[in-house]
Amino acid sequence: MNHIGKNAVVGVEYVLKNNESEVLDATDGDEFQYLHGANNIIAGLESALEGCKVGDKKQVTIEPKHAYGEKNPELIQKLPHNLFTGIDKVDVGMQFEWQTEKGQPHHVVVTEVEDDGVTIDGNHELAGVTLHFDVTIMSIRAAEKAEIEHGHVH
Ligand code: ZN
Repeated sequence: MNHIGKNAVVGVEYVLKNNESEVLDATDGDEFQYLHGANNIIAGLESALEGCKVGDKKQVTIEPKHAYGEKNPELIQKLPHNLFTGIDKVDVGMQFEWQTEKGQPHHVVVTEVEDDGVTIDGNHELAGVTLHFDVTIMSIRAAEKAEIEHGHVH
């Protein structure tokens, strides 16, 4: 298998940056492997890598609506301090599992602490972020039967 296509196991190294060129994620010399065509990675990135071969380098920019979506303002809430009793000090950047009204746990991060309340944001950390990937294709091989059945790399 020389080119990336459906049912290829692809190894990549990548650096992910935002519009401000801050590094959000990077493989740092480790190869990240995924099964092509199995929704293992963001659709826009997967389609950009289609047909690439080992050694190819790709720069891929993905708008929020094709990545983790725009920020949903309904997931940003200001809560009274008394909901945080039992925690010594609530700080910006702290993460919690929050129980929604329907009882679903979801992941929130503290974005602001003020005298009259604590603001939490339940959006995905990459919501509203334009993603800039620098990808190098390191390896390509045909997936094993079991990998195709399971939809992931073994
Ligand atoms: Zn499996």
